Amino acid sequence: MLKGKDIQLGELRKDYFTNRIVLTSSEKNEPPKLRKEDKHIAKKKSIEPKCSLCPGNEKKTKPADMVLIQKEGALIKMSDEEDDPVKGWIIRVIPSNKPAVTPTPERAYSDRPLYSEPSHGHHYIMITSPNHYEDFTNMSIEQLINVLTSMQDKVRGLYGQKKVSYVAVVMNIGKEASAKYDHPHLEIITLPCLPPIIEQEALAAQKSMNELGICPMCAVINVEVGGPRQILATENFAAIAPWASSQSYEFWIIPKTHKTSFLKSTQKEISDLALILRCTLGGMSRALDTPPFNLVFHLSSEKKTTRQLHWHIEVYPQKSRLGGLEKGMGVYFNQIKPEQVAGELGEYSRHELAKIIGIK
Ligand SMILES: [Zn+2]
Ligand SMILES: [Zn+2]
Repeated sequence: MLKGKDIQLGELRKDYFTNRIVLTSSEKNEPPKLRKEDKHIAKKKSIEPKCSLCPGNEKKTKPADMVLIQKEGALIKMSDEEDDPVKGWIIRVIPSNKPAVTPTPERAYSDRPLYSEPSHGHHYIMITSPNHYEDFTNMSIEQLINVLTSMQDKVRGLYGQKKVSYVAVVMNIGKEASAKYDHPHLEIITLPCLPPIIEQEALAAQKSMNELGICPMCAVINVEVGGPRQILATENFAAIAPWASSQSYEFWIIPKTHKTSFLKSTQKEISDLALILRCTLGGMSRALDTPPFNLVFHLSSEKKTTRQLHWHIEVYPQKSRLGGLEKGMGVYFNQIKPEQVAGELGEYSRHELAKIIGIK
C-alpha cells in the first residue's frame, strides 16, 4: 500500500471515489501566502452597528421561525411573533432575504436544450452565535453542540416538507469565501433534486458496496487513520487531508465507523464532533491566520429511497482562485501536498485540543 514515505513529487492523483484529477507540483513549493480578509481579522473592533444579524437588530430580518434561548441552564426553543422578536437568543434561524430557492417559484417546466423546472425549496440562515466575532474556529464546545443539535432539528423538520429531495448545509466565512454576511452563520437550503457531487459519491458508494462489499469511505478510514494524512482523531471521528485534495489545505472530518445518517448521531457523537470541529478549525485558523473558508456537510439524503453515503464534512480554507484548467476541464492543480498539510494543521489542532481539554 502506498503511504506517505513513498510519494514522489509531480503526481497525478485521483479522488477516492470519482475520477477527479489533481496534479501535484513537480517542484518543491513554499506554501502559498493565504490572503487575510480585512473584515474577518478585525475581531477586536466593536460590533458593527450596521450588522442586521447582531442582537438588537432582529426587526431588520424576517421573523425567525426557530430561536433558541437559555433559561436556568435549560435550552428553550421558540419562534418570533410578527413585530415581536425573541430577545436574548443564543441561536436564531431566519428565512434568507435573498433565497436561492422559494416555496412558490414562478418558472414553468421546459425541455432541453432550454431545460427548466420550478426551483421549489426553503432557504434559511442559522445565526450560530449572538457574538459577531464568534464562529466555529473560536466558539465554546457547548455552543457548538447547541448549533449542531439545532441543525439536526432544523434539517429533520425540512425533510418533512413537500418537494424536498435534499437539505444542503454549508458555512461560508469571509467575503472571499462568498459569505453573505460578516456575522457567522450556516446556510440551510432545500433542493428538489440531489446535488451532483452528493449523487456521484452516493453512486460510487453503492457501486463499491455491490462489487466489493465495502463502503469506499470505510476503506478510506482504514487506510488514512494513523497515516501521514491524518490531522487529528477523536473517539468517533478522524480529520484527514484527503489524498487528492483539490484545494490547498482542504481537510475532511469523517465518522470512523460506517454512518450514513447525520440525523441519527447520538448526543455523545455530537459532542465528539463539536470537539474535533473546534480543534481542527481553531488549528486551521491559527496555522493560516484566520483565512476565509467554506465548510460543507456531505450528508445522505434522508429520503428512504435515495442512495446513501458515509457522511462527512469537507473544509476548504480560502476560496481558491480557480484557473481555466479547473473551471473548464475539471483538472485541479494543488501546490501543497496533503501530507504537508496534515503535518502543519495536525500540530496546531493538537495544541487546540490540549488547550480545550486543559480548560475542562
Ligand atoms: Zn453581527
Ligand atoms: Zn462507510
